[in-house]
Amino acid sequence: MASKSRPAPGAGHVGPLLSARCTGCGKTSEKRTTEIVGDASSGSFQHVCHSCRGVTWWNALAVLEEADSA
Ligand SMILES: [Zn+2]
Repeated sequence: MASKSRPAPGAGHVGPLLSARCTGCGKTSEKRTTEIVGDASSGSFQHVCHSCRGVTWWNALAVLEEADSA
């Protein structure tokens, strides 16, 4: 997390697969992220929400799939 370089916005291809809820619209979706603030199963992270049409904060609900590599 030292730089702002990111592979591609929106999709999320790395990190654990999380069930998460958008704080903007309340939508629940599955997201991947490596930038979780707090614990992976209960923390928060920023991700694109298609309903909100932008980056919003998401609250993690559960870890659906562990990351392949750490
Ligand atoms: Zn949203």
